[in-house]
Amino acid sequence: MKDPDAGVLGVSILEGARFSCQGTGACCSGYVYGPIEDAVVRAVEGHRFTENAEHIHGPEGAFEVVDIDGEPTRVLRRVGPRCVFLGADNLCVIHKELGARAKPALCRAYPLNVALAPDGIAYVSLNMECGGFHVGCDGAPLEETLPDDLPVLLAHPTMVVPEVVRIDGDITVDFEDALALEQTWLADLEIDAVGPATLLRALAVRMVRPQDGPAITPARGWAPANAHPIVTALVPWAEEERQVALAEGNLVDVELHRRVGVAAEAWLAEQAPRGTPGLQAGDAGDRLTRLHLQNVIFGKALHKAPTLMAGLGLEVVKLDLAMRLALLLAGEAPVTPAEVNEGLRTLNRCLRPSGLASLGDEVVECCERVVRALADEA
Ligand code: SF4
Repeated sequence: MKDPDAGVLGVSILEGARFSCQGTGACCSGYVYGPIEDAVVRAVEGHRFTENAEHIHGPEGAFEVVDIDGEPTRVLRRVGPRCVFLGADNLCVIHKELGARAKPALCRAYPLNVALAPDGIAYVSLNMECGGFHVGCDGAPLEETLPDDLPVLLAHPTMVVPEVVRIDGDITVDFEDALALEQTWLADLEIDAVGPATLLRALAVRMVRPQDGPAITPARGWAPANAHPIVTALVPWAEEERQVALAEGNLVDVELHRRVGVAAEAWLAEQAPRGTPGLQAGDAGDRLTRLHLQNVIFGKALHKAPTLMAGLGLEVVKLDLAMRLALLLAGEAPVTPAEVNEGLRTLNRCLRPSGLASLGDEVVECCERVVRALADEA
């Protein structure tokens, strides 16, 4: 374990990770963007923008102060769901008129995740909420593009990994052991002869019986029949969130939560009461699902759930619903990479770990049961 005052000792980038921005503007709409640094405010106020000038230089200004976790926080003002700086062409006018480095740090860092671990290493992976990920994932290797933004990234870690990691209610492991487990999970994901359903089962076996070898037997689907209580809880939850978003005028979240509700209802209609085989992602979905899982594991995002097992269970349910959303968007099979990406993006965005926590202990336990059931089936 490193000396706590030693700072970041190194950077580890997910092997093979690539990304290039596709300029969809999806990440600049429907979020609250802040806190915003003084330097950005000075740069913006010292420039007369040609685009969006009526909003940026209008009476309401470009920034506003909102309450975030009880703290007054300066954020970018939104016009409807869109950032005040998002041009009609879905590109950032700060970037266009002042250059990439003038943008707020959080905009420069997106869609990268940085997990600061107890070994002093900053682990860098990708956030698949990005609307253009299905194309951007074939862009430039991260190790070539990252250096420019590295100081910004390291100053804004997405999460701090704890020294002790809880696998399920009874089992905890030191971070080093969790890291070793993670290497075996990532190795499982390298096996590209099988689909995500099989890989999820292999991950579940690793989680429940870490001493067992990989159980790579092709599975038809991930069929999380045990997910019934989670999906049942999702229907009213998505509607509640949709109403909150409606009251706030956040039309992006209104639509995303509506979709989650529709997908959950479709799941319940088809899956209840006995369960049917889970959906196959198909070729388009397999690759994106695999990339998603690699990034989730490497980005230590599973650690954000109360237990690793609950995190994996949530991913299983999320992926099943994401494929259902992709089918709903497509109208009929086969789905395209764009539809799979949109399904994943919607679920990633709506069903955050904080969403999982708000669904209560019973749902967390249910996520863990999903993993145990998958491991038993494998
Ligand atoms: S400042 Fe630019 S990059 Fe940041 S959210 Fe607004 S439009 Fe997007």
